[in-house]
Amino acid sequence: MSGSSKKHRLIIVSNRLPFTAKEENGKLEFGESAGGLVSGLSSFLKTVGTNTSNISEYLWIGWPGGTVSEENKEELKSVARSKFSSYPVFLSEEEMDQFYLGFCNKTIWPLFHYFPTYTAYQEDQWQQYKNVNQVFAQAIQEVVKPDDLVWIHDYHLLLLPNMIKTRAPGALIGFFLHIPFPSYEIFRLLPGEWRKDLLDGLMGSDVLGFHAYDYTQHFLQCIVRILGHDHNMGLILTADRVVRTETFPMGIDVDRFVTALENPASVQEIKDLKKSLPGVKIILSVDRQDYTKGILNRLEGFEILLETQPRYREKVVLLMIVVPSRIGVDQYDKTKKQIEELVGKINGKFGSISWTPVVYQYRQVPFHSLIALYHVSDVALVTPLRDGMNLVAKEYVACRVDNTGVLVLSEMAGAVKELGEAIIVNPNNRQEISAAMAEAVEMPAGEQQRRNRIMRDRIKRYNVIRWAGDFLSQLLAMREVQSKFYVKLLSEQLKQSVITDYSRSKRRLIFLDYDGTLVPFVRRPEMATPGADVSAVLTQLSKDSRNTVVLISGRDKATLQQWFGDLCMTLVAEHGIWIRKPKEDWKMFKEQTADWKSHILPILQLYGDRLPGSSVEEKDYSLVWHYRSADPEQSNVLARELLDHLTNFTANIDLQVLRGNKIIEVRAAGINKGSIGLHMLSSDNFDFVFSIGDDWTDEDLFKVLPESAVSIKVGIANTHARYTVQSIQEVHRLLKAFAGKA
Ligand code: UDP
Repeated sequence: MSGSSKKHRLIIVSNRLPFTAKEENGKLEFGESAGGLVSGLSSFLKTVGTNTSNISEYLWIGWPGGTVSEENKEELKSVARSKFSSYPVFLSEEEMDQFYLGFCNKTIWPLFHYFPTYTAYQEDQWQQYKNVNQVFAQAIQEVVKPDDLVWIHDYHLLLLPNMIKTRAPGALIGFFLHIPFPSYEIFRLLPGEWRKDLLDGLMGSDVLGFHAYDYTQHFLQCIVRILGHDHNMGLILTADRVVRTETFPMGIDVDRFVTALENPASVQEIKDLKKSLPGVKIILSVDRQDYTKGILNRLEGFEILLETQPRYREKVVLLMIVVPSRIGVDQYDKTKKQIEELVGKINGKFGSISWTPVVYQYRQVPFHSLIALYHVSDVALVTPLRDGMNLVAKEYVACRVDNTGVLVLSEMAGAVKELGEAIIVNPNNRQEISAAMAEAVEMPAGEQQRRNRIMRDRIKRYNVIRWAGDFLSQLLAMREVQSKFYVKLLSEQLKQSVITDYSRSKRRLIFLDYDGTLVPFVRRPEMATPGADVSAVLTQLSKDSRNTVVLISGRDKATLQQWFGDLCMTLVAEHGIWIRKPKEDWKMFKEQTADWKSHILPILQLYGDRLPGSSVEEKDYSLVWHYRSADPEQSNVLARELLDHLTNFTANIDLQVLRGNKIIEVRAAGINKGSIGLHMLSSDNFDFVFSIGDDWTDEDLFKVLPESAVSIKVGIANTHARYTVQSIQEVHRLLKAFAGKA
């Protein structure tokens, strides 16, 4: 990673630290912790501090793998810091039980891997999940500094980004999900509050990374449907945040594997393996013991091979390593029993004194043995039912230094996107797995090399160092992306100077938009009545004889009259078609005709019928199709279609078609908030001009105001306004401050 010369500290946050600490007879014992993330990131972290890196140092925050008594905590902290550049998060056994074995592995893991029937929905475990995320947030708060990059990993900590954003607003926060993000149909199975909280949690990030394009799309789909935020090319814009989503397939450190194969321990292991299994083709299977890995299906595929093609008996061996994992979670214990029964059955049925068809080992294997296994195996059978990435597949290809060997890979593994030259199988189809094994065993060496050469080149190029570097570069780039949006943010200091200008002025013109500015949007427009606080502040402002207050809205005149008719202010309805000055009647701002409506109305009604939840509003001189309450994705498609339809239809008529905030409006051309703005400006010699609004219609007004005017857009966006504020609450605070100066 290179780029700007400024160096940052990197804070990595994951459930587990890169080392383990346990208490034996009251004394601390340290060990290494295994897993793809630790080994992958370790390679990247070796580059930290070098000239080309933007990272000056790092600190890893996580759980040390065991419960530690009070008297040993200080020692653990000190060793963690000095030896492992780490900062431990202490959790009790009960917390870990409900959190890790509970919500993480009985709810999120099965659901995100498309096993809804294995998913538990337990309130106490959800509460503990929230609690443990808070404990992590507290630990981060103890060490984080404003310029740090915080990189949070995986499904254990989905709530954490938002918790950090509020505690350390200056830090850039990245999040990477190492498991699949499921489709909306699966994600929505979570109770409403949980799914919203989980998405809000993730939205605290500046950059959100996923292994595969599909997972990114699923996430964006959930964001639109559940939180209602649209996106543009993966950039999500909310009222107060800009969040980038991106696909970064995680790689491995190929060189580390290749170099390690030359270590004496590996060389010896390779020799021993070759000696112990002479004359047979070795088919390797290595996984954590997990129902998502499809170990049973694989065994069944092997059984079919031996059953239907007896010529392979005594000629092949399935070397099956199953690594103990999540002992104590029911489904895992059950799967282990089933695997062992099937191994026994296959060996009993086909085995002989001199040949064991399945060599089964239930254990963790050391690194030098694992790479030796990769190196000597003729075939690797990697057939998970669902897997976020699957590093074993990449590691196997990396260890085939002469490019021989055949990878059989599930189409349900994230890795399949980069390893398309493998023999691809559907893991639910045992016959296909069996046929793939036969094809793999028979594949000529030349063909093996052709395929592996392509795959090895690819995984060498996009290795784990590049993966981490790309992610962090994107994270750093967010400062610039966000600054474009935040540059106009009304600071406290600017706000005070606007209030001072207001209080010093004698003739003030104040334009106020209504929906999205004074009150939030709701599902049905008639429900957005002004609250007591809005009425109070408008009353106070309009009573001041120095103020000309103009409430300028897209609503019809009857509604504005009903809500604000008694106030001494100018009301403008239908975005400028009708105007009512204090103590006067409603007048048309410019003569209009409405004969066009009978042509356009049927078109809008057709779309209203086609999209459940949408409705058509007929005003005096405009027509509006509202779709806020409709299905967001379907409405986006239909809105584009309707726009196209209307634009063609009205090409030769003097009408304008506008797409607003969840509406499409058709009205006469030539009238907008800008025309009203100019009209009002010319009515007096104002010494303070103020305008606030949240919508595209307000841009017409912002554009025509004099340079000295204070124009404010609600929500971050590209705008003609001079300033932006992030929420309706801020609008209220500012208007109350004005009213207080009366
Ligand atoms: N692995 C390990 N010890 C073993 C067997 C495997 O550390 O005894 C490593 C393997 O090298 C790989 C990781 O565990 O890096 C498994 O990652 P993968 O993405 O394949 O599956 P996960 O276990 O993360 O679901």
